[in-house]
Amino acid sequence: MLRNDLLDQWDRENFFHPSTHLAQHARGETPNRIVSGGKGVFIEDRDGNRLLDAFAGLYCVNVGYGRPEIAEAIAEQAKELAYYHAYVGHGTEASITLAKMVLERAPQGMSKVYFGLGGSDANETNVKLTWYYNNILGRPEKKKIISRWRGYHGSGLVTGSLTGLELFHKKFDLPLDRILHTEAPYYFRRPDAAMSEADFVAHCVAELEALIAREGADTIAAFIGEPVLGTGGIVPPPQGYWQAIQAVLEKHDILLIADEVVTGFGRLGTMMGSDHYGMKPDIVTIAKGLTSAYAPLSGSIIGDRVWTVLEQGTDENGPIGHGWTYSAHPIGAAAGVANLKLIDSLGLVENAAETGAYFNAAMSDALADHSHVGEVRGEGMLAAVEFMDDKDKRTFFDPSKKVGPAVSAALLKRGVIARAMPQGDILGFAPPLCLTPAEADEIVSKTAEAVAEVLG
Ligand code: PLP
Repeated sequence: MLRNDLLDQWDRENFFHPSTHLAQHARGETPNRIVSGGKGVFIEDRDGNRLLDAFAGLYCVNVGYGRPEIAEAIAEQAKELAYYHAYVGHGTEASITLAKMVLERAPQGMSKVYFGLGGSDANETNVKLTWYYNNILGRPEKKKIISRWRGYHGSGLVTGSLTGLELFHKKFDLPLDRILHTEAPYYFRRPDAAMSEADFVAHCVAELEALIAREGADTIAAFIGEPVLGTGGIVPPPQGYWQAIQAVLEKHDILLIADEVVTGFGRLGTMMGSDHYGMKPDIVTIAKGLTSAYAPLSGSIIGDRVWTVLEQGTDENGPIGHGWTYSAHPIGAAAGVANLKLIDSLGLVENAAETGAYFNAAMSDALADHSHVGEVRGEGMLAAVEFMDDKDKRTFFDPSKKVGPAVSAALLKRGVIARAMPQGDILGFAPPLCLTPAEADEIVSKTAEAVAEVLG
């Protein structure tokens, strides 16, 4: 086995890490971690640390680490047939079975599933399909996509544009044309403290209507949103938000893309986040929980209305000019089948609802009254603690104080991984869906200690 110090040296010399301060990492100024194993909600590293991963990797290892059922399915598939493409009607038992299983779990009115590799490429597919759709319908001007500030939809060219977070635009010349942003459904940060939730929903609707009026409804193809804002701060929508937004979209014949990369397959305590909020999407993006990240795989679930037009398009123009070499990769598909079976047999959707509610209530009991905690919020197995400088005056900490990262570091010292979210002093939690109440208690008590250490 390679020595840790040698791996550390090779890491600093050779490895371009995503979402990392590149210069500090190369100079050895920031810690790295060589992860070597995982079981249940815990990971282990090469320095002998055992850490409770309260963010499930990047909210993706939903069944927990070290599941032999999925590892064996991957190994079997690799031995039998590691790869064949899915172009011109090719498939494998795994990819065909998984498509059926996904459709059985999808919101109503869905027709087919296209498989990609990750959430970003799935959203690229979705945007392309809305453009194709409107070209086939003879509406070549109807191409713009509306996203929300603080939405997260990936970090490609189009998807990094859809993402509504400063860090993902700055110095990358994003967002690209055709991508627009509207108000985030973030009631806690409402523009006027006196607004009720209903007032704030009306404000979001008015902002959307004004944007559509400015641009012209005949130029707008689709609206994309996560059922619960994820990386933008883990923010469940205010009551009635999705119903009100959908009414606007229907009025202007704008498609709805539900980005369920985080919420798909149980995280909110329902199989899909769309069902949780009564959303009726035209396209659904899935990734992370589809395989619990045991292998890379994503999907675009296409609703009947769009599918009919795609069929018409290929009748008129020939085969669809879209596909990846690794679309529906057999190893990813085998992992997906085993993963969805495991979610069912272990009752993980139900556990996300029950233990998630327990976890959220315990976090709220422990921290909501702290003088620097503005809000404890969550839904299912998602939770966030947002810090404030002054609760009465509704002022936030100066970002340069890095309060969120400091609390996250204090928690890590205590053996628990939570994520300092990228915009605001927000500590995010998205544990594996197999979390037990005892593990939830451990996360909560250590979070309270970490908050006390940093903020008194
Ligand atoms: N959409 C959402 C809601 C996400 O949270 C993410 C990643 O966190 C993505 C899309 C992008 O997925 P990926 O990182 O697999 O490209």
